[in-house]
Amino acid sequence: MITAVFPGSFDPPTFGHLNIIERARTIFSEIHVVVAVNKEKRYLFSAEERVALLQKLTAHWDNVSVHTCDTLIVEYAKTLGARVLLRGIRNVSDFSYEFDLSLMNKALASDLETIFMPTEPRFFVLKSSSIKELASFGGDVSAMVPESVARALERKFSK
Ligand code: ADP
Repeated sequence: MITAVFPGSFDPPTFGHLNIIERARTIFSEIHVVVAVNKEKRYLFSAEERVALLQKLTAHWDNVSVHTCDTLIVEYAKTLGARVLLRGIRNVSDFSYEFDLSLMNKALASDLETIFMPTEPRFFVLKSSSIKELASFGGDVSAMVPESVARALERKFSK
């Protein structure tokens, strides 16, 4: 019975994120998706909006829940009783960044293990920041994000 946390900005959630959650939920007994709230970062979607989008998208998976966290993820993982911190990896530059982060998190919480899950090839170009940029120009993002997210992006940029 191993519980994992899957933290990130999810601004907005993409098919890449959902693929990681879908695969991980068959390995771990529970997945807590944790929407990061970092006061230094500017998000397009509020924490409440990101949680609502993710809750809808994961509602049919009974061992997946969605939370927000404005503290250190290692602290939050402890309160949830999670043993694993899950991160998706798209390419070498993700790995390089994530590897450094995992060492820092290990120093902070030695009993929490970071596990990397490589993306599936068809999702490796999906990046929330590029999707937001494309959507801001009215580009078609329907192959990159679920319909509810595409509609939410459309609403944001039509304002
Ligand atoms: P952050 O804001 O922490 O940079 P995101 O919120 O974009 O990251 O993503 C959360 C997690 O999902 C990270 O581990 C990230 O590497 C992973 N991820 C993002 N996009 C993809 C994708 N297309 N395929 C696999 N993993 C991904």
